[in-house]
Amino acid sequence: MAIDLHLHTTASDGTYTPIQMVEEAKRIGLSAIAITDHDTMEGVEPAVKRGDELGLEVVPGIELNTDYKDREVHVLGYYPDVNCSEFQETLKELQIARVNRVKKIVEKLNELGYTISFERVGKIAGKGAMGRPHIAQALLEAGYASDWSEAFDKYIGKDSPAYVPRTKLTPNDAVQLILEVGGIPILAHPGLNNLDEIIPELIATGLRGIEVYHFEHTEEEKEHYRKIAEENHLIITGGSDCHGPGKKSGVRLGEIKLPYKLLEDLKNAKAALEKISWK
Ligand code: AMP
Ligand code: FE
Ligand code: FE
Ligand code: ZN
Repeated sequence: MAIDLHLHTTASDGTYTPIQMVEEAKRIGLSAIAITDHDTMEGVEPAVKRGDELGLEVVPGIELNTDYKDREVHVLGYYPDVNCSEFQETLKELQIARVNRVKKIVEKLNELGYTISFERVGKIAGKGAMGRPHIAQALLEAGYASDWSEAFDKYIGKDSPAYVPRTKLTPNDAVQLILEVGGIPILAHPGLNNLDEIIPELIATGLRGIEVYHFEHTEEEKEHYRKIAEENHLIITGGSDCHGPGKKSGVRLGEIKLPYKLLEDLKNAKAALEKISWK
């Protein structure tokens, strides 16, 4: 009855299509997965449909990329109302902002003499939410970098010459946005940010949980965030952050197996939220 609550597909920067992700999860015997693409829910519907056919529970989710000071903070949202038109508008705006940012980064790269084209990056992204991972791929193809971290470190990472900041969405905005559409906001992999000081404010806004189980968290970090969650009556989630085969980020599907109990807690949080909003 193992589950995985953090997965990326071709709807953002993963390599499995949503359907392939579900089929793979079924094949290795998972009982439930959540699709959590960056800033988009395009992958959810096809995954849910395939999940229904195969008897695999698919949780609708999203991972919002936000910025806090000079750091990137990710906020997961589970069970947001995909049909809310304002939410769809906001997601559309985020996608447009992503495309414009990629254009700017490519322009900067070209000015610096690294000739990759926006068209090629668009091809690599396909229908997915366009982002720096797709630029990194184009840089690899063109021979400007030999791996992903080199592409980020040398060209498009935070302190690198072709970096362009994104339009500001703060972690707090993201928590609020997810709550507004009936979703459960969870702080993603906080061990990667070392920004514990923002947690109290996020809780005050309505953060409901912390992603404690993540492949990049050490045992100490897991213990540390488990404690913070307990002290603040937050739920605990986790997942592989799998981006599919051939991707640097995340581990392979099935490498992190978590108990179904985590999903029960998540569903209870969703039920509690619904009770509040009906008052
Ligand atoms: P974007 O949302 O376009 O700013 O791209 C951010 C995404 O790039 C993150 O969610 C990661 O998936 C990926 N990423 C960021 N830094 C690195 C890195 N150093 N190596 C590989 N992937 C990275
Ligand atoms: Fe990613
Ligand atoms: Fe993330
Ligand atoms: Zn992720």
